Amino acid sequence: MEKARVGYARQMARKVLSDTKISGLPVDLKIILAKKGYEYIEVDTFLDSVDALILKSDGIYYAAVNAKHHPHRQRFSLAHEFGHILLNHNPSYYNPGITLDNPPTSTKHISAEAMFETEANSFAGELLVPLETLKKEFKKTTDIGELSRTFYVSTAVMSIAISNHMTQLYK
Ligand SMILES: [Zn+2]
Repeated sequence: MEKARVGYARQMARKVLSDTKISGLPVDLKIILAKKGYEYIEVDTFLDSVDALILKSDGIYYAAVNAKHHPHRQRFSLAHEFGHILLNHNPSYYNPGITLDNPPTSTKHISAEAMFETEANSFAGELLVPLETLKKEFKKTTDIGELSRTFYVSTAVMSIAISNHMTQLYK
């Protein structure tokens, strides 16, 4: 079985940050997406099971999040979907059958291969909590609550980032 390209996914996230010249905190995902040509929208008609979606409608690429979800969840979900696109996981995300007026009734990608999910999560984690920035912030505080506020991510996402990079952070 193939292994998830975790390093490659993180590298891709770092490339996006440098390409879009994003370095401040929290990472401004909306600006990144705007610079990459996506129109950011919050949709209040998505079912609760739909987290975020990147789709093309009338020639415009939309990066849509569920308006009812917490901003932490919106940010991570959208970064995750963006990862799927950049890592060339599944062109069906551009499925012409799916539009803003006709959103999916469930998140199809849940059934995507676990490997792709791992890669998209690694991408999203590095995009929102870049290792180099985390190293600097970690010197100021190791408090997960405080760090999650600085990076504007959930404490769950922050905990994962810290445990993923344990050896680099504590050396
Ligand atoms: Zn996914």
